[in-house]
Amino acid sequence: MPGYCLEYASTSRAKCKGRKPCGGTVIHQGSLRLGCTVEFNGKECFAWRHWGCTTTKVIANMKAQFPDASDVDGFEELRAGDQAKIIQAWKDGRVADEDSVSKSFFKPPSFSNPSLDCQSFEC
Ligand SMILES: [Zn+2]
Repeated sequence: MPGYCLEYASTSRAKCKGRKPCGGTVIHQGSLRLGCTVEFNGKECFAWRHWGCTTTKVIANMKAQFPDASDVDGFEELRAGDQAKIIQAWKDGRVADEDSVSKSFFKPPSFSNPSLDCQSFEC
């Protein structure tokens, strides 16, 4: 079962594991990001994505584990405005349009042709 945490990026070193074309871009210091532990080559490691790159599937998985958004690690440390966003995403099952990176980057998703790169990090 993947673990999750929310925080502001402490450095600009981590790269987003969200969908292309955002995947692989740097998460800038101070940006709200979601971390999840993924298994890679038998080891656990953290994968980070912009909050705006969090997919409906990831939110559904988190909700299954944490019925309340406030139970996610790091939630209490966030600014009130960001906490409200996350609570709203829990209600809606998706990231708000204005936060969604996909809005500026992506065409409507094509479910018949999913990107393997993205799917592999869909935790
Ligand atoms: Zn991203």
